[in-house]
Amino acid sequence: MIEYQTDNIFAKILRGEIPCEKVFEDNNSIAFMDIMPQSNGHLLVVPKSPSVGLLDADSTILGNLFTTVQKLARAAKQALDADGVTIMQFNGSAAGQTVFHLHVHIIPRYEGVSLHHHGAAPADPEVIKSNAAKIRAALSSKI
Ligand code: 5GP
Repeated sequence: MIEYQTDNIFAKILRGEIPCEKVFEDNNSIAFMDIMPQSNGHLLVVPKSPSVGLLDADSTILGNLFTTVQKLARAAKQALDADGVTIMQFNGSAAGQTVFHLHVHIIPRYEGVSLHHHGAAPADPEVIKSNAAKIRAALSSKI
């Protein structure tokens, strides 16, 4: 397994060095919109604790991480009127991982709509911004 590198893009986002369309933050994690979404409303939950992936993560962060994943998945499904939600998480380049800081993908799904390829094309920033606003609004309601 590769060593954790502090210059990965999500570490830079966590340090505020790179902007993101943030929808949630607490002491343990942040969630923001994926800039190359595989479906409308694709977002990422990133724990603040540094690890390359799930396999080297401190297991004590996982309960909190998946509680946040559930909260965000519920909010995204409601906010974007999705029919389902795919949760994905990749470990190692052989598995498709491209950013080497643990993260969980939350991908709203719509009946009959296939996923775009992983990390293939950036979405319209205005659409991302509008989806983020809807998710933030759902989070501040009673989910
Ligand atoms: P992985 O392949 O590591 O599981 O997923 C990395 C994800 O991060 C991809 O879905 C990709 O679109 C997304 N991504 C890559 N660079 C950036 C970035 O600078 N900002 C945001 N918000 N997402 C990114």
